[in-house]
Amino acid sequence: MTRGGPTGAAGATGAAGAARAEGVQSALSIAGTVRRGERTAVSVVEAALAAIAARDPGLHAFLHVAADEARAAAEALDEAVRAGNAPGPLAGVPVALKDNLCTRGMPTTCASRILEGWRPPYDATVVTRLRDAGAIVVGKTNLDEFAMGSSTENSCVGPTRHPMDPSRVPGGSSGGSAAAVGAGLVPLGLGSDTGGSVRQPAALCGVVGMKPTYGVVSRYGLVAFASSLDQIGPIARSVADAALLLEVIAGNDPLDSTSLDRPAPQVSRSLDAGVDGLRVGVCDELVDDTAPDVSRCVREAAEDLAKAGAFVEEVSVPEIRFGLSAYYLIAPAEASSNLARYDGVRYGLRVDAADVAAMNTATRTAGFGPEVKRRIMLGTYALSAGYYDAYYGKAQRARTLLIQAFDRAYRRFDVLLGATAPTTAFKIGERVADPLAMYMSDVCTIPSNLSGHPAMTVPFGSGDDGLPVGVQVLAPALEEERMFQVAAALERAAAARAGAALEHPPAARAGTGEDARR
Ligand code: GLN
Repeated sequence: MTRGGPTGAAGATGAAGAARAEGVQSALSIAGTVRRGERTAVSVVEAALAAIAARDPGLHAFLHVAADEARAAAEALDEAVRAGNAPGPLAGVPVALKDNLCTRGMPTTCASRILEGWRPPYDATVVTRLRDAGAIVVGKTNLDEFAMGSSTENSCVGPTRHPMDPSRVPGGSSGGSAAAVGAGLVPLGLGSDTGGSVRQPAALCGVVGMKPTYGVVSRYGLVAFASSLDQIGPIARSVADAALLLEVIAGNDPLDSTSLDRPAPQVSRSLDAGVDGLRVGVCDELVDDTAPDVSRCVREAAEDLAKAGAFVEEVSVPEIRFGLSAYYLIAPAEASSNLARYDGVRYGLRVDAADVAAMNTATRTAGFGPEVKRRIMLGTYALSAGYYDAYYGKAQRARTLLIQAFDRAYRRFDVLLGATAPTTAFKIGERVADPLAMYMSDVCTIPSNLSGHPAMTVPFGSGDDGLPVGVQVLAPALEEERMFQVAAALERAAAARAGAALEHPPAARAGTGEDARR
């Protein structure tokens, strides 16, 4: 494999800042240099492939590296630049895709044996939009099987490791994409977020992760887990890069009936607007139940926003505490229905047996891992006659109460602030034997999936163990622009506290940054 270019790998040190690998170019900067013909897409892609070859054997972020396709796409893009054609906003930018996003002719496994050998006949809408924008798909990343999990340990081919400490998990279920971006192998990744699977691993790996308002990004070609909760979201090393990626993938898609009939939110334009006068509610329920080092980071983030001119107040939204229980009825119920399609006939694996029913059973017994089977059983039980109203119906009523509670909070506040995950990255194996402990990893992220509201995580400081902490910004439906505005202010404040320079300094510094320096 040819080497070259500046894409470096992160050093395996304990300092959270180190996750922001030295010398890694942002997506914005790559696209600019490629568009202007100052750097070829081929050299960018070769550098990413070299970084993956050097670093991924110890990380296991990738399930499939699409080297040939990536090189061919990069050559075609360079050709377009030379011919004077506009190459798109993500010109030459390498992107890693969670392996539950359909890629035409390229393996799409969901890290499950049941999809072994399946190659989708079409691209997901987000993949088509990435290609149209000039991005280069370099591979498919590891995940918990069918996105069910919080650590990437439920993958049928073994876990991904944390980019800064190989004895720890990167979070999940989009752990492969988060680790690949965190380690600096690629500037951008896509994940899916049903209960926090973009935001939680992004927080643990020290990168930015975002879940859009339900319906803002098309789910066409995302392998369904829980359809009323699933959204695809960007993972990036900066708020500006996440904004760029969201603007490319969002917007109405007639192929997804739940896609909102509106254009992609414009989130880049307000990143430098500051937070002067914005009302920020620090949500008790998203702070109190987290580890002391995590809650300290949230409080510092709130202080910095106040210093930057925001009106900051504590707020209690008690219904948030219904979230986890409601989710673990609704998500498995929808999953049990969605996963009925893996019958040994239509996709991937088939284990032959005497008759069709026996073949279905043998295929599903061999093809699904233990967590997926647990969810199918829980969901089937919750939907069964006689229990439906007591479990599924009650969970839906709790979901409605939660939505109403958020709506009341958003009458008083523009955004809410909280932790993204209750702890920093935990040890591989630590929560495997205790499903409830694993489920608790998403206690702060699940509420926004149930409500359909947007939420995002920004790296802000580190825990007592030196590992990254993510602070979560939650916003009302379709208020992505405001949410990114606050996230960008937090990013500046975190950089000021760390004494680090930003690659893309804001044009207007007024009211942020400097005075927050410790
Ligand atoms: N960890 C949660 C679960 O296991 C969320 C997963 C997700 O968002 N895909 O269901």
